[in-house]
Amino acid sequence: MTETTGTILGPCPACGEGTLVESAKAWGCSRWKPEDGGCPYTIWKTVAGKKLTVAQIQQLLAGETTEEIHGFQNPKTRKIFSARLRIDDPNTGHIAFVFEPRKELGRKEG
Ligand SMILES: [Zn+2]
Repeated sequence: MTETTGTILGPCPACGEGTLVESAKAWGCSRWKPEDGGCPYTIWKTVAGKKLTVAQIQQLLAGETTEEIHGFQNPKTRKIFSARLRIDDPNTGHIAFVFEPRKELGRKEG
């Protein structure tokens, strides 16, 4: 058993017919070819310089928001930041950052 090749994450959430297969840089739908339907679903393994774990990707596929992940780097400012991730576009697998307001800095309601 190896975790880096041959891992199958399950059916493609976008088309439901393909399976997500691993390539060097991403998990993508097996039906990406135009003659197979041209499914664009892709989840990049590395987001803002941070490599995601299979467990985190499985969370995203399940429609969940991940725990806060540390060590992202803003490509412009080079600033390191933390965020949670979720799938922003279920048709393409586009990932969005979710920034949690800091509880200790939160304003008190009322
Ligand atoms: Zn698909």
